[in-house]
Amino acid sequence: MTAIDTRPHDISDILEREPKLLIDGELVDSHSGETLDVLDPATGQKVATAASADATDVDRAVRAAHRAFDLRAPWRRMSALDRGRAIIRLARLVEQHADELAEIEVVDGGWLRQAARDVEIDLTVRHLDYFGGWPTKIEGNTIPVSIPDVMVRTEREPVGVVAQIVPWNYPLLMAIWKVAPALAAGCTIVLKPAENTPLIAMRLGELALEAGIPPGVLNILPGLGSVAGEALVEHPLVDKVAFTGSTAVGTHIAAKCAPMVKRVTLEMGGKSPNIIFGDAPLESAVAGAASAIFFNAGQACSAGSRLYVESGIFDDVVAGLADTADRMVVGPGSDPRSQVGPLISGRQLDRVRSYIDDTVERGGRAVAGGSGTPDGVDPSGYFVRPTVLVDVDETMPAVREEIFGPVVVVQPFDTLEDIARRANDSDYGLAAGIWTRDIGRANTLAGMLRAGSVYINTYGLTDAAAPFGGFRRSGYGRDMGHQNLESYLETRTVWTALDGEG
Ligand code: NAP
Ligand code: MG
Repeated sequence: MTAIDTRPHDISDILEREPKLLIDGELVDSHSGETLDVLDPATGQKVATAASADATDVDRAVRAAHRAFDLRAPWRRMSALDRGRAIIRLARLVEQHADELAEIEVVDGGWLRQAARDVEIDLTVRHLDYFGGWPTKIEGNTIPVSIPDVMVRTEREPVGVVAQIVPWNYPLLMAIWKVAPALAAGCTIVLKPAENTPLIAMRLGELALEAGIPPGVLNILPGLGSVAGEALVEHPLVDKVAFTGSTAVGTHIAAKCAPMVKRVTLEMGGKSPNIIFGDAPLESAVAGAASAIFFNAGQACSAGSRLYVESGIFDDVVAGLADTADRMVVGPGSDPRSQVGPLISGRQLDRVRSYIDDTVERGGRAVAGGSGTPDGVDPSGYFVRPTVLVDVDETMPAVREEIFGPVVVVQPFDTLEDIARRANDSDYGLAAGIWTRDIGRANTLAGMLRAGSVYINTYGLTDAAAPFGGFRRSGYGRDMGHQNLESYLETRTVWTALDGEG
C-alpha cells in the first residue's frame, strides 16, 4: 500500500452524483425512481442519495448478466489469462483509489479512516490479486474408467449467473469476497449491496468497467432486501445465490432456493468463543481479546464476543480488558484519534443498547462501557462505548445471540472438557480463539471446537488463500481459498468412444 496520508480525500463529486444502477455496463435510472438516503453514521445526517432497485430493475440486470454469459459474448470468449489480467487490473485500480474508497467507507459505513485503508481496502486488493491468479489454474481431469475404448474427461464450467447479496459491516470487502472468485470462475454477477451502504459498490462497478471487465458481467443494484433481494433470489435466470448476512435472512433465502435447486452458499452470523488459559501471556491475550471484539465497533461476523477465562486469572483479565475498553477513544472515523467508530444505524444502536440493558436487568454487570451515549461524541451519531459484561450465564440473550456491537460477555472456566462443551454450546460455529503457551493443549482443544476458523494466540486474521466460513447455523460453503472457487464451478464429464462409432 502507498504511504499513509491522514487527510480526508475529497469525495464531494461522488456524494453529489445522481442515484443510478449499474446494468449492462451503463449507469441507468431505476424503474420506479425510488431512492435510499445515505446517512453518515457519525452524525446521522444524510450525505447522499442512492437508487433503489425494484423487481423490474432486477429483471433487466439478470437478463444483462444472462446475455453476458452467452458463449459468444466477450466474457466467455476471453482467455483465462486475460480474465485473470482483468481481475488484477481491478486490484491495481482499487489500490490507486484507496484514499477515495476509504473516505466513502468513513461517511457511508462509519469506518475509521485508517482502518478502512489498512484493513478493508488492503484486504480487498490482496483478494483480487489472489483470485486474479486462478483462471489459468482451473483444470479438468482425465478419468481412468473401467469401460474399454472410451476416454473420459472432466471440464470445469462457471456456474452461470450469480446473485450476490452482502451486508454493511465491511461494505467493499464483503462484496469482493464474492465478486473476485465469481469473476475468476467466469460467472456473471448481479450484486446487491446493503441498503445502509450502497455507495462503495457503485464505485467498484465503475472501476471494474475501467479494468476491462465487459459490460453485463458485473451489474450492481442498490436496493432493499425485501424488494431487490427477494426479486433476485426468485429470478429464474439466477443459477446461484451467494449470501453474507444474518442467519435469519440466509435461512429464508436457502428455503426459497430449494424448490428451484439453485446453488446457495451462506456466510452468516457468529457468537464466537475466545478462550484464555491461565498460562497465556496476559498482555497479548488481553490486547487480543479487546481487538477481537472492539475492532470495527464489534461489527464483525467473527467477533470474539464470548470471552472465557480460566478461573485463576479471571479477575486480572477482566480488569485489564475493562481498562483497555475505558481508555479507547470513541468518535467519528474522520478523526484520527478515534479508536471505536459509530455503529451503522440508529436501529443497530438501539439493538446493541437493549442487549446491554437487558443483561444488567438480569443481574449482569458492566465493568466497562454501558448503554449511555459516550462523552464527547455527536449525540445524533450512532455511538456506543466498548462494553465488558460479567456476572452472566448461558441463559442470557447477550451470551447466546449475536449482538454485532462492541459488547463482550466474560465468564470463568476450569477444565478443558468444561470449556470445550461450553464453547460449542451455541447455534453458531464461525470462529474461536485459544490463548495458551501450551501448544499441545491448544491443538487438542482446536480439534474439539465446532468452528470454521480457530485462532491460536491470535484472533480474526483472514487471507484470500485461507478458507473462511461456518459450521452449523453460521452457514455453508466457504469464502476464500480454492474451496470458494469450487462453489462457482460446475463439473461436466465428457465421454468419447475411441473407435469413433459409439
Ligand atoms: P442482513 O439483514 O441479513 O442483510 C444482509 C443482506 O441481505 C443485505 O443486503 C440485506 O438487504 C439483504 N436482505 C435482507 N432481507 C432479504 C431478503 N428477504 N431477501 C434477500 N435479501 C435480503 O444482515 P446485516 O444486518 O446487513 O449484516 C449483519 C450480519 O451479517 C450479521 O449477522 C453478521 O454476522 C453477518 N456477516 C457474516 C459474515 C460471514 O462471513 N459469515 C461476514 C459479515 C457479516 P438490506 O440491506 O436491505 O437489509
Ligand atoms: Mg439489514
